[in-house]
Amino acid sequence: MNAAVTDICNFIGNRFVPAQGNGWMDVVEPATGAPYARLATSGPADIEAAVHAARAAFPAWSVLPPEHRAAYLNALADLLQENVGVLASAESRDTGKPISVARNVDIPRAISNFRFFAAAASQFASESHAMADHAINYTLRQPLGVVGCISPWNLPLYLLTWKLAPALACGNTVVAKPSEVTPYTAMLLCELCETAGLPKGVLNVVHGLGLEAGDALVRHPALSAVSFTGSTATGKSIAIATADQFKKLSLEMGGKNPTLVFADCDFERTASEVARSAFSNQGQICLCGSRILVEAGIYDQFRDALLHQCAQIQSGDPSLPATRHGAIISEAHYQKVTGYLDLAKNEGGRILCGGPRQLDGRCAQGRFIDPVLIEGLDQGCRTNQEEIFGPVATLQAFTSESEALALANASSYGLACSIWSRDLSRCHRLASRIQCGIVWINCWMQRDLRTPFGGMKSSGLGLEGGFEAMRFFTQARNVCIEYGDE
Ligand code: NAD
Repeated sequence: MNAAVTDICNFIGNRFVPAQGNGWMDVVEPATGAPYARLATSGPADIEAAVHAARAAFPAWSVLPPEHRAAYLNALADLLQENVGVLASAESRDTGKPISVARNVDIPRAISNFRFFAAAASQFASESHAMADHAINYTLRQPLGVVGCISPWNLPLYLLTWKLAPALACGNTVVAKPSEVTPYTAMLLCELCETAGLPKGVLNVVHGLGLEAGDALVRHPALSAVSFTGSTATGKSIAIATADQFKKLSLEMGGKNPTLVFADCDFERTASEVARSAFSNQGQICLCGSRILVEAGIYDQFRDALLHQCAQIQSGDPSLPATRHGAIISEAHYQKVTGYLDLAKNEGGRILCGGPRQLDGRCAQGRFIDPVLIEGLDQGCRTNQEEIFGPVATLQAFTSESEALALANASSYGLACSIWSRDLSRCHRLASRIQCGIVWINCWMQRDLRTPFGGMKSSGLGLEGGFEAMRFFTQARNVCIEYGDE
């Protein structure tokens, strides 16, 4: 695997090729602000070539026994494992995330995506239903054909493989469009596909801008389904662009997740985990708890404990092993996040800690923001309603469970929440009433690949994870056989 490549090309039919228009854009290291590679910027002709390769590969791939497809996925997992150090360095450089996070969390999770869906392929049984004593139904679950997988920049390889692995395990062939901001590990994965001997055309990766390559991909008439993770605005435009083709869609989108802290929580652990949930990956995870709701009786004490936690988070050069809080993904995103700090002040908020930080040396031109806590804002203001997707969390006090629930639900988003309390009856009650797809009780970001994953309201359409992902990537067909009387 070659981590020194500076031209990131498309991977079509197992060949690395530049975009047909020979367009390129810079890939920038967030921590330094310096370009270090060029990315092919593709358009409809490249998508056409990739879909063509994927269609040609589909008949043979789709009829392989599931265990043969699983063997390829496990081979890929093994190769990723052998190259975990190279992949983690590349991911950290591409995203600005701490190398320890890339090494210990993101790349291992990408590996487990392949292993999990390799195993799931052999466990994905179809249902059958007997009708009284005269007929039986069984359900065929067949691959869809060529599917599109579009992924964002915050967890690049982890989220790309979260889509590829079930799609391939189910017998589909894939055209993937990774984020143009963080394309590097997708290219390394393609190199490993070659090494693993994945048949040509089974996985194709086309790089470029969302409005060019991404849009051409979702509109391609030969594409059966689109699995997308990214912003709500993009998800909406994909839904509109594909509506007249009735494509199967899975849209995993933004969040503005509430964290509910009750006075009877395990105080020290809760403070530490709530800080982790707000600021992991520089707050650039869709699941981050960015609205921290605290019971009034412990509000002051909990705010102080959170401030203490924020002061402990070691921010700096993401390539250093001790760093826990790295760079903001891009100049444009830095401007967006800092714009919200100005907005919060205008809306009457008090910034309690954090904000832009200037580093020197190698990172002098990088963009860094230390964890920001804001109090004094109403739930209805823009700072509390819009997804900032950075290291910014607000604090609000509540006086009753019903008020906490009302604040939690007063959002157009509905992705995830966490509830911190020793009163499990209350936790279960809230879990059934909070409007979101994922509820963590006394924990955050526990990951079990068997569980359904997805949001409601403006956060998502469809589900990923476990057999839900496999249901998405297959077409169900019921077959009814009447056998009648002797
Ligand atoms: P984005 O929507 O800007 O881009 C995501 C991907 O879509 C990229 O590959 C991009 O090139 C592509 N794209 C953009 N416009 C397109 C179009 N018109 N047609 C087709 N493809 C297009 O999102 P981002 O900034 O990369 O990621 C951050 C967002 O992702 C946040 O909103 C975050 O909450 C969300 N996210 C959600 C989840 C989840 O599971 N719900 C997980 C991670 C990130």
